[in-house]
Amino acid sequence: GKRAEREQSESYILRKMKVGQVQGIPIVVDVKTTVQDAVVTLFLENIGSLVVADENGKLAGVLSRKDLLKVTLGNSNAASMPVSMVMTRQPNIITITPDESVYEAARKMIHHQVDSLPVISYTDQEPSSDSEFNVVGRITKTTIIKLLFDQMEQE
Ligand code: ADP
Repeated sequence: GKRAEREQSESYILRKMKVGQVQGIPIVVDVKTTVQDAVVTLFLENIGSLVVADENGKLAGVLSRKDLLKVTLGNSNAASMPVSMVMTRQPNIITITPDESVYEAARKMIHHQVDSLPVISYTDQEPSSDSEFNVVGRITKTTIIKLLFDQMEQE
């Protein structure tokens, strides 16, 4: 019937599924990691971006392919530079929490024109803007395409 039809639709799956159900494992590097090691990590892990953590393990930034390309072009010292010099820094990182919908993750990625979001979990019960949090996962456009593809295969 109509209900079954709706429950099978692609938009329904995005709204029903929570980020926590589909998130992947974030690959985290330290702020002192070199650009060279970051590039190697992207290839070895077969991913497009890295999460960068400070000395205390807290989210410091995000590093993407474009950040690495940009710094490498015409810069012979780039390979030995720390990733902290080229990453996008906090407080400019767009994040999401595990209890938010996959739809909301897609909306944020499209709106902010980024390919991935770190998934964060607050340590406080009632989080405010300066609450502590941990990076617990990662969601990417690939995660969402796979989800939509699997849904369409089932029909
Ligand atoms: P790519 O560089 O492979 O195109 P993105 O589109 O994700 O990957 O990255 C574009 C820019 O946005 C980069 O400068 C990157 O550091 C930044 N960026 C990526 N993800 C985020 C995020 N979740 N929040 C804020 N900035 C981000």
